[in-house]
Amino acid sequence: MELKRYKEEITLYDTEGNPKSSWVEIRVDPLTGEVSRVINVPLREWSLPDLEAMARETRASCPFCPEHLENKTPKFAEALLPGGTLGRGGATLIPNLFPYDRYCALIILSKAHYVPLDAWKAREILDGLRLAQDFINRVSAYDTSVNAFALNWNYAPHSGSSILHPHIQLSVGAFASNRGRRMMTAAYDAMLEGKEPMTELLREERSRGERWCGRIGPWNLLFAFAPRGRFFEFILMHEATGCFPLLPEPDLKALSEGIVRGLRFVVTMGLSSMNLSLFSPLREEGIFHPMVSISPRACVGPHQMSDISFQMLIDEFFALFLPEEVASRFRKSREGA
Ligand SMILES: [Zn+2]
Repeated sequence: MELKRYKEEITLYDTEGNPKSSWVEIRVDPLTGEVSRVINVPLREWSLPDLEAMARETRASCPFCPEHLENKTPKFAEALLPGGTLGRGGATLIPNLFPYDRYCALIILSKAHYVPLDAWKAREILDGLRLAQDFINRVSAYDTSVNAFALNWNYAPHSGSSILHPHIQLSVGAFASNRGRRMMTAAYDAMLEGKEPMTELLREERSRGERWCGRIGPWNLLFAFAPRGRFFEFILMHEATGCFPLLPEPDLKALSEGIVRGLRFVVTMGLSSMNLSLFSPLREEGIFHPMVSISPRACVGPHQMSDISFQMLIDEFFALFLPEEVASRFRKSREGA
């Protein structure tokens, strides 16, 4: 598989007429054809929020802390979910009070109000993933007209989370997310031509070894060639095609371990917020390799400049780190060991 990248060398001149060289690398996502740019911009101090202080300030009024969860949150219809909620270990699934899809749930991942990003246990993530799987399968059986699900996690305010208490957003409905649909459509279209682009990508990344960082169980750990986000995109891609709702327990357990490594690495890289998304078909098992993507988020400087600019309107990302260098740091870190 060809990984397309185009490096543009740029020369500018200072006031004395001396040349100053710069560059930008334009990279094409091998699955969707979408472009990301790796840019040569000096790193500025990003401003990390004081999450410990935020935890102290928000603890008393938190709707997801155990003493409030029971009496401040709504319940699903009995016909869909007897009892209205689901629980497993320290995780609880409740309806999202502000739905954005036909079936919209929140998975409160922990009874603790604040869990630092590098303090997660795989067991806690696994409980959340199993609840997600359980809910998706119940909804699919209850309403056979749903076609897609989305599992997303905003961790801490710089990632877009309004409540610090850790919670995953899960939705099931008629429409897939834009990116999910683009990736799955690309895989489907390729299949009609007898190609398997995700299998090819894994083979290519493994043989190059530049961004590939090994495997946990069936999950390949790699950094995206054309990353989404300001810093890097850490990916866990299943070795085989399948769909998340039907993955067996050992696969979920390995995925939880991989996610924990990704979260710790965000902290190793000096960041403390992130977005996580899981991509998978709802039912189809033969087309797409289930994958999880983690991208750190941060504001910059004293004025809390956002790390996303007009990039949101043009649907294109400018990354500050070379994915190959980030992968090298991962392999040398305890998370990559
Ligand atoms: Zn709380």
